[in-house]
Amino acid sequence: MYNKDLADFIRREIRSVQDWIEDAVLSHTVNMIPVYNLGFLRLPLFFNEALLKKIMTVSVDSNVPLPPILNMLKGIMDFMVEGVTGITYGDVYFYRAEYGKDESLHFHEIIHSIQWSGIGKKQFILRYALELISNGYIGNFFEVQAYGHQRRFESGGDPYDAEQAVKDELFEYIKKN
Ligand SMILES: [Zn+2]
Repeated sequence: MYNKDLADFIRREIRSVQDWIEDAVLSHTVNMIPVYNLGFLRLPLFFNEALLKKIMTVSVDSNVPLPPILNMLKGIMDFMVEGVTGITYGDVYFYRAEYGKDESLHFHEIIHSIQWSGIGKKQFILRYALELISNGYIGNFFEVQAYGHQRRFESGGDPYDAEQAVKDELFEYIKKN
């Protein structure tokens, strides 16, 4: 399948992916805990309290839930489905329990949640998928942005308003794409 066909395929499938995500999130409602309640010390230096209370987390013992469409695409892309330790769907993210204390992983997923709300759910799914097709996992704009901020967080530099920084960068990205 050529990339253009793949992009058309994803455009056609977007509604079913959205439905799948909605179901996955709804079926975990009872296990949700606001990231604010996990008691991390540095996250509040980068994100405001309201955001940390809004974003919900779900700890899972094995693999995080991934849309079945990825299994169809993984032969084509270098997206490592098995190695995923966290995944964000809007205001909710799932993470593998063994990484529960890894503040940096939580930081990364919060950046993704800001991306979702910044450009809207449907747009996020579509653009993330198209980025995957064009640039792979590592070169995907949304991962480049998340890993970039994550490195800044890990480097121990001065705290900054990460939500605003991400939104400003998204604005520039949307203008160009
Ligand atoms: Zn990521």
